Amino acid sequence: MQPAIDRGPLRDTLPRTRTMAGFFKSLFNKITNRAEIDWDELEADLIGADLGVRPAGAIIDELKDLGRKISAEDVVETARRHLSAKLPADAPALAPRPDGKPFVILVVGVNGTGKTTSTAKLGNWLKKKGHPVVLAAADTFRAAAVEQLQRWGDRLGLPVVKGAPNADPSSVCYNAHQKAISDGAHFLLCDTAGRIHTRHNLMEELTKIRRTIAKQDETAPHLTLLVVDATTGSNALQQAKEFHKASPLDGLVVTKLDGSGKGGIAVTIHDQLGIPPRFIGTGEEPDAFSVFEKDKFVQEIL
Ligand code: GDP
Repeated sequence: MQPAIDRGPLRDTLPRTRTMAGFFKSLFNKITNRAEIDWDELEADLIGADLGVRPAGAIIDELKDLGRKISAEDVVETARRHLSAKLPADAPALAPRPDGKPFVILVVGVNGTGKTTSTAKLGNWLKKKGHPVVLAAADTFRAAAVEQLQRWGDRLGLPVVKGAPNADPSSVCYNAHQKAISDGAHFLLCDTAGRIHTRHNLMEELTKIRRTIAKQDETAPHLTLLVVDATTGSNALQQAKEFHKASPLDGLVVTKLDGSGKGGIAVTIHDQLGIPPRFIGTGEEPDAFSVFEKDKFVQEIL
């Protein structure tokens, strides 16, 4: 009989548990049905689950040190402990600014990661908590992104500030900031740079946006979030490095955790760059979005 394993509180909410249940099942079969553990294969499986090469090696070493026949639970429990040690505590809550000015969030990331969708989802999440929100459609390079954010705004009842096609993203952010201030919005979310032509361009664009936003509130922007697609594996680490050099990042939105993405990339990014996960995206619908919670996240990865 297979042992009952706590698959975590997200079990019933995330379709991707199918993937992870598959991972556990194959692990269970390999470990239970064989006389000898194939350590190389086990290490490859852990790396394949996006746990990273170094952490996978450390997990294997610790399992070998047990000096007895290991079980699938040993592997999962040891891996969870390692992951947990590498992740930050739960993200601090987002709160409106005490001075009454909008809390300004820049959302950055490569096209296709789910940046525009995540901006809308975050706006929806904040609105549901009772906060007035303004969205800035500042990913002006991709005309479809502006229309897409507008559609989200219409659907979710969130005001969207946009510019003319190919408008300067900074001026869109400036106008949106002005509206957010005059409307008394608690949060301004700017859907920004979605391209990396060169690092220089990216840095220039983000620096200009930051400078423009600071004109109306020198403490802004207050948070810069990078959206990473969990299904892209180590590519996401490279993107985080590039964006972090261009503009300091405060946190990650890890998207597509309902797909083949395993989330291990968030552990690697935090481990290597110190950028914590703040939110996770688990689908295309507005409510498929939640705040990062370490224990749930670790249970979901394994
Ligand atoms: P952007 O180019 O980075 O702004 O990306 P979009 O917001 O346009 O998203 C790209 C695609 O990914 C769209 O089809 C979204 O519906 C989809 N998407 C975004 N977030 C998620 C997610 O968490 N899960 C899934 N399955 N799809 C997502």
